[in-house]
Amino acid sequence: MHPELAADLARLPELLEETRQQALAFLDGLDERPVVPQPARPGTGAPAALAEAGGGLPAAGGGLPAALAEFTERWEPRLSASAGPRYFGFVTGGATPAALAGDWLTATVDQNSNSSLDPAGQQLERETVGWLRELLGLSRAHHGTFVSGATMSNTVGLAIAREWLGERLGVDVAEDGVGALGRVRVLSGGAHSSVSKALSVLGLGRTALRGVPLLPGREAVDVAALERVLAEAEGPCVVVANAGTVNTVDFDDLRAIADLRERYGFWLHVDAAFGAFAALSPQHAHLVAGLDLADSVCVDLHKWLNVPYDSAVQFTRRPDLQARVFRNAAAYLGPPPASGPGYPHGDHPDLVHLTPENSHRLRALAAWFTLRAYGRSGHREVVERNVAGARALGDAVERIDGLCLLAPVRLNVVCFTLATDPTPERLADLAAEVADEAFLTPTRYADRPALRAAFSNWRTTGADVRRTAEALARAVGKLAPDPNQS
Ligand SMILES: *Cc1c(COP(=O)(O)O)cnc(C)c1O
Repeated sequence: MHPELAADLARLPELLEETRQQALAFLDGLDERPVVPQPARPGTGAPAALAEAGGGLPAAGGGLPAALAEFTERWEPRLSASAGPRYFGFVTGGATPAALAGDWLTATVDQNSNSSLDPAGQQLERETVGWLRELLGLSRAHHGTFVSGATMSNTVGLAIAREWLGERLGVDVAEDGVGALGRVRVLSGGAHSSVSKALSVLGLGRTALRGVPLLPGREAVDVAALERVLAEAEGPCVVVANAGTVNTVDFDDLRAIADLRERYGFWLHVDAAFGAFAALSPQHAHLVAGLDLADSVCVDLHKWLNVPYDSAVQFTRRPDLQARVFRNAAAYLGPPPASGPGYPHGDHPDLVHLTPENSHRLRALAAWFTLRAYGRSGHREVVERNVAGARALGDAVERIDGLCLLAPVRLNVVCFTLATDPTPERLADLAAEVADEAFLTPTRYADRPALRAAFSNWRTTGADVRRTAEALARAVGKLAPDPNQS
């Protein structure tokens, strides 16, 4: 054994203890460190900072102590507090204590359990999927598979949709390729950008996506307009419904869309990446009524379940089609999945036949830990506290002179802008001014540049809302006027 490996092995308990202390110091500092350290921001010297120090690959490294020391000195200070309570950019969750412990153990046990030849891990994944189904109000008709994020979940869901289109048209896409399908139409009110990426990956093409008009002043699809488009469509299509849009967390009427499916026979995919968690709050569960009716559903876990990256689930009612797409037959991997009309009665196919990757970590373990530790009531409390936090920040924004809300706070995102001259530059200045205290990310909504604050971290409390509101009020006061206006 290489002497440095041997030395680390001999001191493993001590070295893991040092790593643990390092991790605790990071977590203890979350509240105090700048939410996004200045030099990491674009246009503020990040490339120079990254070029400094850092030689080539070491010939001999000095073992774990040397790696830990260099990480702590050179990289850790540059990292954002994205695990903390005031990182409101994008839609970003944290990691609950139990999820973090589960994730540590995931690396520790280092399983690649995707076949019945070594089944414990995939059995644990199935148990976790069952708990998630209950949490989100999905019936047992939905089979779930862990993937790395909502983009991959949308991609897998749309891959199954592609196979379904083939079934409807009497062609086998998995065997004969996407060319056999001809032009495909994917209809959506305001699909997340990852849907376009998925269509590109799947060979359906980004232009397969056709926007359907939204309800006035909303990000929800106009169901009557959708029906008109469906009535004119030739051949089967795919509808991507949205349950939680990123700007204003709006929800399509899933039941009404599912009703249309009775008449027009499309594949209904629902992107419920974080909106699915509305189901945990009795006050908001109506927003996702009908989710179970979908043919495939995307749910992110590294957002509102608060497990570490990277984790999401893809649910579908047609695991038989999923296995057709992702089947990976080789003698050394064990028996192929049963297929044919009787499927999925009887056995579940091994995970290796259901997801894009063959090998993957025991990704379900962190989710298993947090669900086992806090159950429905713990995760409901996080969702409800985050919604209350977003409401409170929305109220504060309305009271700050110079800011205005662009949409009502429907769930967990505050979408706002400057009352005068809301240029992208001035909004970027505003975001930079508050970045030590809170991370906000830019968007465009209702034809205006805007900022968003998304609440999905289990640590966020009312104190964080007040701290953010105070930082915003100070920053607006300091903002330079728009040069073009003077
Ligand atoms: C975040 C998000 C995605 C993409 O999720 P990743 O986990 O970043 O791949 C897709 N759809 C919606 C609605 C999202 O909020």
